[in-house]
Amino acid sequence: MPMDSEQAAAAEGDTIAAFSTAVGGPVAVIRVSGPGAAAIVGRVWRGRVPLTTAPHRTLRLGQLCAAAGAVDSRALAVFMPGPASYTGEDLVEVHCHGGVLGARLALVEILRAGARHAEPGEFTKRAFLNGKMDLTQAEAVADIISAHSEAALRVANRQLEGRLGAEINEIYAELAELLSEIEARLDFPEEDLDWLPAGTLRRRLAAVAELAGRLLASRHEGEILRHGIRLVIAGPPNVGKSSLLNAILGRDRAIVTHLPGTTRDTLEELAHIRGVPVRLIDTAGIREAADMIEQSGIARSYASMAQAQVILWVIDASAPYAGQAWPNHGPGGAVLLVGNKKDLMAEPPQDLASGLPPPIYTCALTGDGLETLFDAIERVVWEVPHNATPEVAVSARHAVLLETAQSQIEDAKARVAAEEWELAAFALRSGLHAVGAINGRTVLPDVLDAIFAKFCIGK
Ligand code: GDP
Repeated sequence: MPMDSEQAAAAEGDTIAAFSTAVGGPVAVIRVSGPGAAAIVGRVWRGRVPLTTAPHRTLRLGQLCAAAGAVDSRALAVFMPGPASYTGEDLVEVHCHGGVLGARLALVEILRAGARHAEPGEFTKRAFLNGKMDLTQAEAVADIISAHSEAALRVANRQLEGRLGAEINEIYAELAELLSEIEARLDFPEEDLDWLPAGTLRRRLAAVAELAGRLLASRHEGEILRHGIRLVIAGPPNVGKSSLLNAILGRDRAIVTHLPGTTRDTLEELAHIRGVPVRLIDTAGIREAADMIEQSGIARSYASMAQAQVILWVIDASAPYAGQAWPNHGPGGAVLLVGNKKDLMAEPPQDLASGLPPPIYTCALTGDGLETLFDAIERVVWEVPHNATPEVAVSARHAVLLETAQSQIEDAKARVAAEEWELAAFALRSGLHAVGAINGRTVLPDVLDAIFAKFCIGK
């Protein structure tokens, strides 16, 4: 039945548009998705033939026009009809000349022609809702965008390929099967059907709990790869903290000076050390401050240390340890003692009674000792032996749900042993629900909204 004009307008109103590229770049890509995508773009983009009749999935050259005249006289457009598109809906991309003004005008014209501006993550949300990907894959799209190290990127890509989703599906399918087996006993209690023996049920529940446990064990890696660690470089003034930061970064970010107390504030840099995304923080020299500005810098140093996962306490290895000892200032992360200025050191400081592991000696000027320092950082970060990039690494959201699933499966196992079938079914249903929320089968709409709200607009 053909749509009447009101229906058509409503469908077009459900068509969203946004930049998919950063504004101001040389080329701007505007993505338009929804039932009205081709019609809406067709109102402002004119090619030799309309987008719908031109061969699909091919870039066509045309002109972007507004009532007042051409917005972009040479703009490319491509029509990807649903369901074989990123969102699963009709999707048009317009590639126009970038720049702040021209590209903005182009988007305004498309919105004026009937599209609505997309919410953050709305394209990917539609892809999820249209079954193009499960929720773990949709989350991987955001992980790819925010990945700060190659290892993080590799894990995100594996998740996008569906590796985590496949393991979650396996757990889900097994729980669903065991649940239906138990529910059948409730439905036909009198009939002595061919039930699975309770022992088999318990064994299979134990196996699926173990599978969940194995995924859960990747939580620490997932957390580090997604969010990185905070690594604070602290120590007395003039021991070479800023030089060490530069040596780690391999470039001159901090102003290195031989005057004590010149790093007045904390500096932050993103780096990666052996695949670990690291937020490096160089603090103001910690000492008795002469002036107020420096005092506030020192207060911030202590605050940074309290939040850090790893603290490099840097000392001048050519000077006695007394006077530059680790102040052990309240809670904080793992402390590594770094004896810098190794090149000036005749012999290691004799008074190292710090309660810390032996120092790692470095020379920030030549980079000597940095590899040993990186080994030590790697060891404290992973906590456990860590070889290659993991196949999958769950996020905090996944981990919470996996924990719920695990405890429900354990409960179900106990209920099966006691032949409390009703309670066993209840526990399994809760476990199944938790696992389903990971890949999006059973996720609540407001949870979905919260997940996609963290995405950027245009993705
Ligand atoms: P900060 O105050 O702890 O940040 O120290 P800086 O990085 O500003 O360095 C203080 C001085 O020590 C500068 O003159 C650096 O060139 C020098 N320095 C830093 N690291 C080394 C090192 O490993 N060996 C030697 N010989 N000098 C260093």
